[in-house]
Amino acid sequence: MTFNELGLSEKVLSAVEASGYTTPTPIQAQAIPQALAGRDILGIAQTGTGKTAAFVLPMLSRLEKGRARARMPRTLILEPTRELAAQVEESFVRYGVNHKLNVALLIGGVSFADQEAKITRGADVLIATPGRLLDFSERGKLLLTGIEVLVIDEADRMLDMGFIPDIERICKLVPFTRQTLFFSATMPPEITRLTETFLQNPVRVEVARAATTADNITQRLVATRGGPEKRETLRQLLRSADDLKNAIVFCNRKRDVVLLHKSLLKHGFPVGALHGDMDQRARMASLEAFKTGDVDLLVCSDVAARGLDIPDVSHIYNFDVPIHAEDYVHRIGRTGRAGRSGTALTLVTREDAKYVDAIERLIGNKIEWQGPRPDELAAGEAEPVARGRGRRGPGGRGERRPARAEAAAREQRPGSQQRSRPSGGRGSEDRGRDARPQRDGAHQPRQHGRPATPERGEQRRPARQEAHEPTPVGLGDHVPSFLLRPTRLPQSRRMEEEV
Ligand code: AMP
Repeated sequence: MTFNELGLSEKVLSAVEASGYTTPTPIQAQAIPQALAGRDILGIAQTGTGKTAAFVLPMLSRLEKGRARARMPRTLILEPTRELAAQVEESFVRYGVNHKLNVALLIGGVSFADQEAKITRGADVLIATPGRLLDFSERGKLLLTGIEVLVIDEADRMLDMGFIPDIERICKLVPFTRQTLFFSATMPPEITRLTETFLQNPVRVEVARAATTADNITQRLVATRGGPEKRETLRQLLRSADDLKNAIVFCNRKRDVVLLHKSLLKHGFPVGALHGDMDQRARMASLEAFKTGDVDLLVCSDVAARGLDIPDVSHIYNFDVPIHAEDYVHRIGRTGRAGRSGTALTLVTREDAKYVDAIERLIGNKIEWQGPRPDELAAGEAEPVARGRGRRGPGGRGERRPARAEAAAREQRPGSQQRSRPSGGRGSEDRGRDARPQRDGAHQPRQHGRPATPERGEQRRPARQEAHEPTPVGLGDHVPSFLLRPTRLPQSRRMEEEV
């Protein structure tokens, strides 16, 4: 099949040709004709399948008729993160070279004034993260009553981040007669319910999940102890890798991204960082430096990296075992693309056994160990991974806190973001950029008539966190029944700043 057969306009086709794409991907081949016919689409596909063009191209064809009016965008694309929103904007630039369209971006972390100017001028395409969009709408700076096409992208990620109530509100602000294009990599019940409520007789288009445990990805577990020794283990792995071209190093928490980034720089590695406490410009600069090869290594948090179109990388290092097994699949899916070979190494401490089990259950395979198991790492013995290189005993230089403290901190990690944050004002670590300590807890000012509890987004992830819940303390089994009644937790906009 060729793009010519899909019913796209001449202008769009010539832009696609200029991009060098000749054959539509399966999601494009299935979704584009239906979208052009005005149907609602339920696309089950993840990043890397070409789903962005699957909605951008038919939108461009449709936008050729009509004009935008001040403060009344014609189409709206909702994205969970700023980077994804910026990536979609790039697609409009690339595929819309033959169109004179105004594309506006409404994302957190960027000045209101510039964004307002674009909206006021009239936007054909508005790409937004949900919180910033609602802020604009509620300030009367934006009218959603002219929306002809609504795209909800990465819906399951929106769910993870606690954005679903915002999405529901937005769906009620746009006209009933709009066309809705809805994309999600997975279909948990909350997402199914959303599609049943807000899509009208959608065409379901499903493309196979990318082969995440493909044979071309060599996966290994590497035993390590925690604390500074873990960083030493990573350095040994980096130094001893034969075929390392470039690598992404994943940490579970932003604070560890910062720490590891500093540490690797100190040890002379060309490395960038990507996490949610960085401002937008710094995030884009890091990403660009990695894409262009100015740095070979990128230390990332999951949420910041999720869904990004990062070119093929040769190695993935899981500095931390991901707490959510699906994150492992997403992380290692960054390598071994397009049939190339890749390597994914996961550093595992004794405390990580249950997370490794969950990953192995999810991928349906046991992952081989490179070297001994964590239990076999004798106390006082150096890390074994580099097979004799750079051996160093515990408590080496640069130790900031004892391994035991590190292990204790790890114990708190699973599902701990709203419950067991270490004391000492480190609250912003796992929350949004604008989650200031003074706005914590019950004293938070209400936003839009709803209390803004800092980690509400996290509270919306019970299924993923269940396994990590500690035995209840305090009221324990004797919780009064009125406290057990289900409540609808309000939404935290701040999760947008989190990623
Ligand atoms: P996406 O799933 O939208 O994030 O796209 C993943 C990557 O596939 C992007 O780098 C696109 O530029 C690329 N891509 C999109 N459509 C095609 C196509 N028809 N042929 C080859 N590559 C494509």
